[in-house]
Amino acid sequence: MINITLLGATGSIGQSTLSVVDLHPDTFNIFALSAHTNWQSMLQLCQTYQPTFAVMSDADAAEALSNKIQGDTVVLSGAKALDEIAAHQQTDYVMAAIVGAAGMASSLAAAQAGKRIMLANKESLVLAGDIFMQAVKDNQAELIPVDSEHSAIFQCLQGGSSGLSKIQLTASGGPFLHTPLAALESMTPEQACAHPNWSMGRKISVDSATMMNKGLEVIEAHYLFGLPSHCIDVVVHPQSIVHSSVYFEDGSTLSQLGNPDMRTVISYAMSYPDRIISGVPALDLTQNSPLEFYTPDFAKFSCLRLAFEALEQGGSAMGTINAANEIAVSSFLGGQIKFVDIASVIEKTLEQAQHTQPETLNAVISNDQNARAIATEVVKAYA
Ligand code: NAD
Ligand code: MG
Repeated sequence: MINITLLGATGSIGQSTLSVVDLHPDTFNIFALSAHTNWQSMLQLCQTYQPTFAVMSDADAAEALSNKIQGDTVVLSGAKALDEIAAHQQTDYVMAAIVGAAGMASSLAAAQAGKRIMLANKESLVLAGDIFMQAVKDNQAELIPVDSEHSAIFQCLQGGSSGLSKIQLTASGGPFLHTPLAALESMTPEQACAHPNWSMGRKISVDSATMMNKGLEVIEAHYLFGLPSHCIDVVVHPQSIVHSSVYFEDGSTLSQLGNPDMRTVISYAMSYPDRIISGVPALDLTQNSPLEFYTPDFAKFSCLRLAFEALEQGGSAMGTINAANEIAVSSFLGGQIKFVDIASVIEKTLEQAQHTQPETLNAVISNDQNARAIATEVVKAYA
């Protein structure tokens, strides 16, 4: 039995992970689960999976859960408890599927404990890529991407990276791919969260609409595959069938294709280097509309441009844009700023924040907090 700690169990990736586990009850055991505030959903999950630990990062939610829970599950609360279940001696694999910077410390704890980390929380790499990759190396942890593009590239590189010239991330372009720039002004959170191909949490859905998601993924790819920004390319592919490609010097291109469903990516991370059923139907190429590919519009999707700029600046710039983005997206979802203001908030925060080279986790956290404070002030000017 392989013991899994599932961080972010109540989210979109969390739910898809559980549905893959359900297909393989003799191979995978849910050892620990975490969620933020939704103790009612957690209660149901505990009844079904009987984990050894259930962590609610919110203290009130943890108390509500412990009052209701039956069985032997131990309820814990707080950020430290997330680190404990991620690094626990009895756990084998950690699915890091908390959204945002809140997921960084527990992903890092799993790396430091030498676990197999199935990394959905791309923010861990954006914020602390150097520290994270060093921890993976020093502790012989296994890092398997749980992002469709990075999983595609990881799969395409199984034959080695000899002669690799570039990797190319596909981007759906989100719900506003064909929306004129002038019309973006009036887009609502509901419109921004209505992704044409993928069903995801609200934060990443807005990131897909601004294409900041692709920007964060460029940084994620830089760390995962150890490539400079000029070897990382983005192509818009609205059908989300080609999940990404790798290009070699001899003229060969390898791509990974599939239906847009994260269960394929998750099951691969769970079974690597083998493959298991995931519940996703096989792709039928004859039943798809023609596959289209376009060059991204950096003027319309300035978040993508800002992410490339931050990667080139290096150091704290990546953490700064991530923090500013989290503040801007939650302000947009809360109705305080307009969709088009998201990029402006990020750009202004990047201009105002001090540029440093954070070498410790404390320096990363302090930069994240400073950038959040600046972004919060910038938001006020737009609200
Ligand atoms: P989601 O919003 O659906 O779920 C987030 C989970 O994190 C929930 O379980 C929630 O309880 C928990 N959480 C939220 N805030 C927290 C906090 N402050 N502390 C602790 N836990 C907290 O998000 P999602 O769509 O499942 O995405 C999760 C991660 O996976 C993100 O980093 C996202 O970028 C990445 N990802 C998601 C997809 C997808 O298809 N959904 C694809 C690729 C990568
Ligand atoms: Mg992705």
